[in-house]
Amino acid sequence: MSGQAIPVAMACDLVLSAVTPLAAESIPIDECLGRVSAGDVRAEAPVPGFDNSAMDGFAVRSADLGGDAVRLRIVGESRAGHPAPVEPQAGEVVRISTGAVVPPGADAVVPLEEALEQGESVLIEVGVDPGKHVRRAGEDLAAGAVAVAGGSLLGAAEIAVLASIGKAAVSCSRRPRVAVLSGGDELLAPGEAPVPGAIYDANRFGLVAMAREAGSEAYFAGAMADTPAATREAIRSALDADFVVVTGGVSVGRHDHVKGALAELGVEQLFWRVALRPGGPTWAGVAPEFEGRRTLVFGLPGNPVSALVTFRLFVQPALRAATGLDPRETIVTARLAEPFTKAVKRAQYLRCRLEPTATGWLASLTTERQGSHVLTSMLGADGLAVIPAERDSVAAGEEVEVLFL
Ligand code: AMP
Ligand code: MG
Repeated sequence: MSGQAIPVAMACDLVLSAVTPLAAESIPIDECLGRVSAGDVRAEAPVPGFDNSAMDGFAVRSADLGGDAVRLRIVGESRAGHPAPVEPQAGEVVRISTGAVVPPGADAVVPLEEALEQGESVLIEVGVDPGKHVRRAGEDLAAGAVAVAGGSLLGAAEIAVLASIGKAAVSCSRRPRVAVLSGGDELLAPGEAPVPGAIYDANRFGLVAMAREAGSEAYFAGAMADTPAATREAIRSALDADFVVVTGGVSVGRHDHVKGALAELGVEQLFWRVALRPGGPTWAGVAPEFEGRRTLVFGLPGNPVSALVTFRLFVQPALRAATGLDPRETIVTARLAEPFTKAVKRAQYLRCRLEPTATGWLASLTTERQGSHVLTSMLGADGLAVIPAERDSVAAGEEVEVLFL
């Protein structure tokens, strides 16, 4: 039913069910940071590609050693990048560097520190087990093994692994294009002179930044004056994006025109109102199909904390899902440092800092002023502590769930 506030989890599910996965494109490995792999990437050859030495020393035949000191003849050298041209026979060794090929015939390495070199031979007083100080071919990755799974966020570790299997380019999902629109006659752009009743537009920058932090190509698509026509035309021209995020003018006031404009543009409602504070008056919908996909449209509350929190709760999981990442939330349990009493029936999301203690995570409010207009309450916040709808209050030391910001 339209106008009925739904639980956060249900709103999130509705959004996720409307997400269209983004197409894949080939990205040079040097530009993959922050991208999401579009499919499993397999190692064609084993890594390491050959048995190699873990130490600088001598490649030996372990059967030659054991018990008494033995003198062995040095018959060649295997350096990194330059395999030995000879194979050691019984009584022979090959000088070897870390990372160099262990020559056929040798089956272990004796480190320099355990060998006494004397001219063309070496005196070794220790025994050695077969395989000692040898890094086996395929120990890191067998041939054909998945090196990086599809749907992985490519960070330094993933990129290094992809480089280690010789990838020059990787198939990644396209970055989502996110258009941000802000509405309100009171809004000023940076540098504009303050006039009575005006405020600086915080959301357009905050939301674009949050969308970019989530790996998207986000841009400001326009300021909307508080008229039906201006609102409709600004939204219409932004609908070519994958996601449209509108803030301000979404509610039911005389000068709120976003929902009306969206209806005129044929954007179909998924939900209106979520049982949540801050962020109750949140709207989401899907635009008519165009070129095989449906743009997801969000109408976020103008109050700046609400705008950022609802972006985090509903838009960010959608962006993750569209790129192929798992959209499920990472939630930690923490003790709330101070008591909190809720004034509304809705679930409340409190901005908090997280601190590790001997008895688990401790969540302390960034500020007692948790109003949806107190934007500085977002500063230094590690997460959102959730006071469930059915709870009236939480005592100090009680456990709550915290969602990472
Ligand atoms: P609205 O959602 O348009 O009813 O606005 C709710 C409150 O948020 C009002 O106090 C607005 O002035 C404020 N607001 C709306 N849009 C923005 C914005 N882009 N940046 C900062 N505050 C805003
Ligand atoms: Mg307004």
